[in-house]
Amino acid sequence: MKPHSRWSTNELIPLADRWRYMFVVRAFLIGTIVLTAAVAPGLVGALPDHVYAILGAWAGASLAAETVRRLWHRRALPLFGATLILDGLALVWLSEVGSVTNVRYLIFPYMVAIVLLASYRTGLKMALWFALLSSTVFFAPHNGAFAMPHVEAGTVAKWDLGQLSVFVVALWLATIASASFSAVNERELRRRRFDLEALARFAVSLESASDRQTVAAVLLDSLADAFPLGRMLLTTAGRHPVVLSMRGLVPESTNPPQLELSSALLRVQSTHQTLLLSGFDRESDPWLNAVMVDAGNFVVVPLHAEGGCVGVLVAEHSARNSSRVERRLVTIIERFASQTALALRNAALLEEMEQMATTDGLTHIANRRAFQETFEREVARSIRSGEPISLLMIDIDNFKVLNDTYGHQVGDEVLRQVAAAIQAGSRDIDTAARYGGEEFAVILPGCGSRDALVSAERLRRFVNDSFVGRAVTVSAGAATFPDQASTAEALVKAADNAMYRAKRAGRNRVRVAEFQNESLVKAANLPLGPNGGTDQSYDGSWPP
Ligand code: GH3
Ligand code: MG
Ligand code: MG
Repeated sequence: MKPHSRWSTNELIPLADRWRYMFVVRAFLIGTIVLTAAVAPGLVGALPDHVYAILGAWAGASLAAETVRRLWHRRALPLFGATLILDGLALVWLSEVGSVTNVRYLIFPYMVAIVLLASYRTGLKMALWFALLSSTVFFAPHNGAFAMPHVEAGTVAKWDLGQLSVFVVALWLATIASASFSAVNERELRRRRFDLEALARFAVSLESASDRQTVAAVLLDSLADAFPLGRMLLTTAGRHPVVLSMRGLVPESTNPPQLELSSALLRVQSTHQTLLLSGFDRESDPWLNAVMVDAGNFVVVPLHAEGGCVGVLVAEHSARNSSRVERRLVTIIERFASQTALALRNAALLEEMEQMATTDGLTHIANRRAFQETFEREVARSIRSGEPISLLMIDIDNFKVLNDTYGHQVGDEVLRQVAAAIQAGSRDIDTAARYGGEEFAVILPGCGSRDALVSAERLRRFVNDSFVGRAVTVSAGAATFPDQASTAEALVKAADNAMYRAKRAGRNRVRVAEFQNESLVKAANLPLGPNGGTDQSYDGSWPP
């Protein structure tokens, strides 16, 4: 869908409207001539029949052109030009040849109408056309030849050169004067239209941006495309801002330190007012001063959504020499900013909701749902790539006793601490999740059975060591795809079974799932403990 198809042509006033206006103007001219002849015959004289014929033909041609336009939209522009040429011929003929001399004064309001209702360019072209026609009639060897055959010689209006010159000069002056005013208006209208179009395009681009970084990038790109803005950045609000997006800055300078209280970024947040600056103060804004070297003209705009400030936009006007950023530019940037503020707030809410949906409320690590999604995705990836993937199941030992002895609050605290230890002890690419109750799962992409065992043992010790003054232990089971399970479901089951074997063997230890066949056991080269063999156990001596 094209959202601004109505504006897609370069026409400021749509052609259909110009047609309508000029139709009315023409009707007004013909009506005025006929009425004047009836009411004040002294001004135009009694109109001879051939003048009525010409007026009729003019009106008829105009109606015919209107009909053709309606049927044939694509030819509207040349047809519009043709009707204007016809207007010129009719008016000049009536005033110069058709002996209705005073009609020439109607050419002036006609010209003003053209300039204002069509465009000042069309007005200038028409002034040229009138000058050309009038001169042609004047300089033609026998200008009486333009008269209708039955018009008596001597009744044909004749210019003298002086009159012609005054007429042409006056016409040009009137046209140029109205064209100048009209051009100023038109320029302003064009700019506003341009601004609105840019804003409309921006709104469309925003629709596809769902996270805050993308929203910010869309804002900076849209502003840079439409306006003379150079370096820009958008940060989150508050004293510890995060840069959401930037343009034209050195990438090293992404993270601003804590802001000074006098920072422009904080001032706009509290005043809700845009600031125009010619540079950043070294004391108040050391970071901006360093990032925006040789700062010129800057606009600092707060982004307010319901419920508070969500960000700050800093944009540099590229025309550095100009003393101030135009008011119009500031206004349109503010409009972009307020649209962005809403989009940012929505993106933040969405991020928060996604976070809540995938995070466990007590331990703040991934929940069962997030685990399931990641697990299925990673197993599918492992099947595609042929790389192994391992799963650890970790369960707190005798947690019920701990709960019963110290109460649930202490139990919760222990759960949080165990989760934090498992999270901290895992690699960045691993996913640690609360699988349920006091049981945790860790997905280890790209990890074979030996590495899985080593990781499980490392986590077991890590959890032990993270408790001082209270003995909290865990038992863990490790299983690897495809060595010990051939489906995602079987992998969970295998890791779970291994974990229960660790419990049965006395808790506070790690067990590896049964291999699918004997040759895989050898290939895995596990560091087995004293009761190795088919049990695939590991007694916890470290390093293995
Ligand atoms: P084992 O060593 O065999 O795992 O013994 P256990 O006592 O840890 O095992 P069991 O499954 O019998 O007990 C788990 C307990 O975990 C039962 C339940 O009250 C407790 N629990 C589950 N979720 C929470 C929780 O969110 N907070 C607290 N405080 N306790 C929880
Ligand atoms: Mg337990
Ligand atoms: Mg349990």
